[in-house]
Amino acid sequence: MTDHQATYQRLCDQFQEATMLGTIQQLLEWDERTKMPPAGGAYRADQAAYLAGIIHQQKTAPVVDEWLQELAESPLAADPHSDTGTVIRQLRRDYDKKTKLPKSLVEELTRTAVEGQQVWSEARAADDFAKFQPILEKTVELKRQEAAALGFDITPYDPLLDDYEPGESTANVARVLGELRDALVPLVEAIADSSQRPDVSIVSREFPIEVQKTFGAQVVAAIGFDLEAGRIDETDHPFMVGLGPGDVRLTTRFDEHNFCDGLFSTMHEAGHGIYDQGLPREFYGLPTGEDVSMAIHESQSRMWENQVGRSHAFWEHFYGRAQKAFPGALADVEMRDFYGAINDVRPSLIRVDADEVTYNLHVLIRFELEQALIENDLQVADLPAAWNEKYRDCLGIDPPNDADGVLQDVHWSAGLFGYFPTYALGNLYSAQFFAQAAEDLGDLDAQFRRGEFAPLREWLRANIHTHGRRYSAAELVERVTSKPLSHKPLIDHLTQKYGEIYGL
Ligand code: ZN
Repeated sequence: MTDHQATYQRLCDQFQEATMLGTIQQLLEWDERTKMPPAGGAYRADQAAYLAGIIHQQKTAPVVDEWLQELAESPLAADPHSDTGTVIRQLRRDYDKKTKLPKSLVEELTRTAVEGQQVWSEARAADDFAKFQPILEKTVELKRQEAAALGFDITPYDPLLDDYEPGESTANVARVLGELRDALVPLVEAIADSSQRPDVSIVSREFPIEVQKTFGAQVVAAIGFDLEAGRIDETDHPFMVGLGPGDVRLTTRFDEHNFCDGLFSTMHEAGHGIYDQGLPREFYGLPTGEDVSMAIHESQSRMWENQVGRSHAFWEHFYGRAQKAFPGALADVEMRDFYGAINDVRPSLIRVDADEVTYNLHVLIRFELEQALIENDLQVADLPAAWNEKYRDCLGIDPPNDADGVLQDVHWSAGLFGYFPTYALGNLYSAQFFAQAAEDLGDLDAQFRRGEFAPLREWLRANIHTHGRRYSAAELVERVTSKPLSHKPLIDHLTQKYGEIYGL
């Protein structure tokens, strides 16, 4: 072993140990969000903060900087996309980002995020934006300080976006989402003008929760989430967390009178879980074994939820089974009517309840507003009016109050600026990857009709999961589809699908 190889090994050991501590911390968090009694919260917060402190120390120790400097000059870093080159390059990036922020600012951001979420929750319950305004002003100011400390050339939004989409630029996101909006708004209007309206009451009939659980588990097993290496539990706000190789936890929720929420939340989280299960185990705890970005993660969940789970071909396979499982609700319902009901499109107030088409407009509105806040082009005091104006322009909706308007999302209260666009980018990546998979794999619909999901899953594994963080999201989409990210595949998918459903 050369000296460089010994150094590289020490570096990997340190980060794999930090990952082990991180997964212990995540297990505590999973427990907190699924099982923990409320009175356990205070001590749980202490446990989490204690572990976070140790992990931060391990990742930002000065010796890491020394190792990375030595390795940057070594043959191990010569090819930036090799196993070793990827690890060295990405750990350097993470180290620089983590050590640029002064400790006092990090602590202030953390404290303000905790307080912000509490104040937001009270303000939302009271429909009182004025109550939330001062802490949001403080949060925006701190995020601007964070951006300044991290450094930027063009806009302070860039380094914040980079936390969720490494290497992505605000200008590029604004361009691609702007093109998406220009194509989406007329489609939403055409759907709204259509005389064809699905009967949505079908999916709010009675669907016994125990049966929903069994049916959901059968569906996620069929699409290839490995339940021997994962499990499904219930929570209020569904999420997925990987706790180690062979232990991926999905969480979901069920409502007796909302078939779509339970099943599609479960499929969404299973999509995240299939990505996690597809990451290369031999690199667990290193960048070569980690996901690329929030948008790429979201592309996987949205693909299984929407491109697969809301497709006609999928239900040609599963509808008979659903009718048998829920005879009270579905025995007298034609598949055509069921398919219309699960694909109902209508402009609505609430992002998390939005359909596949209008969802992206909700995200766009938030992206434009938060960019303006961070760039100081919009004052927090003017935010509710700006919010309402955009909802009128983009969705033709007048929010009746701030609780269901500007106060509906938790993200800003927690300081998560730069996060929102990844939801829409995820939909774009999803559509672009899916179109390429269809080109490579032949008739995907015919496969889904036969209940065959392995070809798509293995395609995702080989083209996306297996690379870990070897490529950025932009590099990955170019590699896989030979084109940069574009709004076109998503618009093509939506236009074709909803054109048929709504007779456009
Ligand atoms: Zn998701």
